[in-house]
Formats: sequence, structure tokens, C-alpha cells
Amino acid sequence: MIDPFGRSIDYLRVSVTDRCDFRCAYCMSEDMTFLPKAEVLSLEEMERLCRTFIDLGVRKLRITGGEPLVRRNVMWLFQQLGRQLDNGRLDELTLTTNGSQLSRHAAELYACGVRRINVSLDTLNPDKFLAITRWGKFDRVMAGIDAAQAAGLAVKINTVAVRDFNEDEFDRMIAWCGERGLDMTLIEAMPMGDIGLNRADQHLALSDVRKDLAQRWTLQPSDHQTGGPARYVTVAETGRRLGFITPLSHNFCESCNRVRLTCTGTLFMCLGQDDAADLRAPLRASSDDEILAKAIHAAIARKPKGHDFIIDRDSADPAVARHMSVTGG
Ligand code: SAM
Ligand code: SF4
Repeated sequence: MIDPFGRSIDYLRVSVTDRCDFRCAYCMSEDMTFLPKAEVLSLEEMERLCRTFIDLGVRKLRITGGEPLVRRNVMWLFQQLGRQLDNGRLDELTLTTNGSQLSRHAAELYACGVRRINVSLDTLNPDKFLAITRWGKFDRVMAGIDAAQAAGLAVKINTVAVRDFNEDEFDRMIAWCGERGLDMTLIEAMPMGDIGLNRADQHLALSDVRKDLAQRWTLQPSDHQTGGPARYVTVAETGRRLGFITPLSHNFCESCNRVRLTCTGTLFMCLGQDDAADLRAPLRASSDDEILAKAIHAAIARKPKGHDFIIDRDSADPAVARHMSVTGG
């Protein structure tokens, strides 16, 4: 699949639920209204959609959410998609999770062919963890990371940089990741969805964070590329990779290789734009995968050049109305 700007689309992110057992302050408001279950695709429908994307050239799939591991029977989907790894039609199957349910699922994820996962963690302080996630249990996430590593999964820590919350912890987290053998990515908070707070109060420019870190750590340029928006360095002192996702201070849309499917079968061609294609209607209208493939091609032909995220005091409104938990980041 080639989009109008010549970018090859071979990476699909699939949000399997909009629900979550946390309420992270930059992601959701505390009183979120979730979708009625009837609107959400069944796992069988999701599997068929994923298979059609694979037929069209998708080589990498990331399962996300909401919290993907709270979706009932989600391991069935991993098992089906794992078969596509076995038969060589898929290169990689990955997961982004808050870690709360990882202890239960880590070994099975590995058995399904998952080798790398991202775990979101914004602080190593249990009290602050409770404050930012509102409902999260720090010890369970730590146990989840232990279980994942014991099962043989490579773990990358995703940390959203939040002003006046965790900027004083990055040194400690980099050192901790080094001790634990974890890579880490710092993410700028993006203006997605109404969270009941002014985004400008949360925003921390990672270009400044990086300059500050470079005073204490040797950040060696790394050519590691995931096709995604993260730019990596290797921290010489720990030997681990550190990534920076800076959608606001820099944007890397020109190399974007991905599209995002929500749990209702809506395809977003760009994380930062509202345009979307409904794939649920063609999916449910017919069992003919050709019709579905045509709808996907038509959507890819509309992939925009890039996002228009900006954050300043005068534009406190979110750039897009939906929350990050709809498309899963
Ligand atoms: N629940 C899972 C988790 O937290 O990893 C998967 C879904 S979550 C929406 C995916 C990633 O998006 C997480 O790393 C989270 O920290 C990040 N995220 C959520 N809201 C964000 C925002 N407004 N800006 C930047 N990153 C955000
Ligand atoms: Fe849930 Fe992930 Fe959003 Fe936190 S970031 S509220 S864990 S979906």
C-alpha cells in the first residue's frame, strides 16, 4: 500500500478496546464514557480485518487500546495473529500495555510469537504513580515487568514527559532502565481529547529535556530506526537505547509508515487528524474480502501529509477531539 506522498504503509496499530483499568491524567478524564459493547468489533471481526491488512502488505502489527489486556479473550486474537508470524506473512507482533495484567499473560504472549512489548510507566514513585494513573497499582506493574522479562520478552518503557510531574525523575529512570536491561522512550504529551485540564500546563519540550540530560549522560547518536516517530540515542553509561518522540517540537511525518484501527473498525490514517474511514460497514456488509480491501485502499489514498499539533496558551483546545485511548497512540 503506497499513500499519495509515496510512503509505503506496512504497519498497523489495532486498538482492541477503548476501556482501561487506569485513568492516566494526560490520556483520559476521570469520568470517561466508554463505547457500548455493541459498537465494538468482535475479536473474530478484528482478526479478519487484520488478515486483510496483511494480505495488502502490512508486515508489522501492534495491539494497543485502551488497555488491550483487559479485553476479554484477547489472547485468542494473539494466537490467531501468531499464526501469521509462523507462516511468514507477518514480521512482528507487538503490544503496548500499562502492565497491570502482564503477570497473567506474559508467558502466553511469548508463546504466540510476541518478542517485544512496550510498557507505559511515567514514574518510579508509587505515590506519584497513583496520582498520574488515578487507579493504577504500582506493584502490579512492577510484577508485570518482571514476568515479561522472565518470559523472554524485551521490554521498552514508554514515559510521557509531564511538566512539574516527572521531569526530576528522568535521571533515575534512565539509570533504573540500565540496571534492568530496558530501553526507554520519552514522549511529549499530545493534545488529544478533553481531559479536563489545560494541556499547556502539562507540556514539556523534549528538545530541552534532551539538552539537560546531555549534561549528565553521554548520549551517542544511534541509527536505530523503527519507522516510527522516535529518534534514538544510546546512553553510553548504561548501554541502553533512549528514544524521544517529539510530535510538537519536531515532526517526522514524512517517514510515517502506519495507520491505526480503532475497536469499532474506524481507520485513522493520521494520529493527529480527524479524517477516518469506516471499515465496519464493508466488513459487516459482506464476507467478500475484496470489498474490504477496496475500502482500505480508498482510505490509504486519503492519508494526509501530517498532523497539525500545536500547544500554546491560546489554543488550549485539543487538536483532535478523540482521546489517545481511542487509537492507542
Ligand atoms: N493502555 C496502554 C498503555 O498505557 O500503554 C496502551 C494505550 S495508551 C493510549 C498508549 C500510549 O499512549 C501510552 O504510552 C500512553 O502513555 C500514551 N499516551 C496516552 N495519552 C497521551 C497523550 N495525550 N500524549 C502522549 N502520549 C499519550
Ligand atoms: Fe489507560 Fe493507557 Fe490511557 Fe493510561 S495511557 S489511561 S493506561 S489507555
